[in-house]
Amino acid sequence: MNNNTISQVVTDGLCTGCGTCIALCPKEAIKLTINEKKGIYVPVLNEEKCDNCGICFEVCPGHEVDFKSLNLDIFGKESEDILIGNYLKCYIGHSTDHDIRYNSASGGHVTQLLIFALEVGIIDGALVTRMKRK
Ligand code: SF4
Ligand code: SF4
Repeated sequence: MNNNTISQVVTDGLCTGCGTCIALCPKEAIKLTINEKKGIYVPVLNEEKCDNCGICFEVCPGHEVDFKSLNLDIFGKESEDILIGNYLKCYIGHSTDHDIRYNSASGGHVTQLLIFALEVGIIDGALVTRMKRK
């Protein structure tokens, strides 16, 4: 296996299925497949097409993200908490509607905010996604 490609990232279970490697591979040597059992996207590398340029590994966030340099570039300072990163303010909360809170992800934040925005006329509609039942 070639360590200059995303193959090791996938083998190590560090791939998030973001698709960056597929978009940037100049040889179109990477194809996205679906692991039906785990319900995740998995890139598969065609070794016959690959010329080992290393671009996919370089752009892949799976094996490393340089948070220090990203924070310096974007915010001009390092973050106090490497996991949270730089932020202006931080809040926690949940929907006060019992059904929304317990039938939504993350306490129903997005659902509740969208309902509010629709009710007060901030938005006319919302395009949302959901899991597909098989
Ligand atoms: S760039 Fe890395 S994390 Fe994103 S799909 Fe490719 S291997 Fe996975
Ligand atoms: S090493 Fe280069 S050619 Fe090979 S899969 Fe990665 S980006 Fe494509």
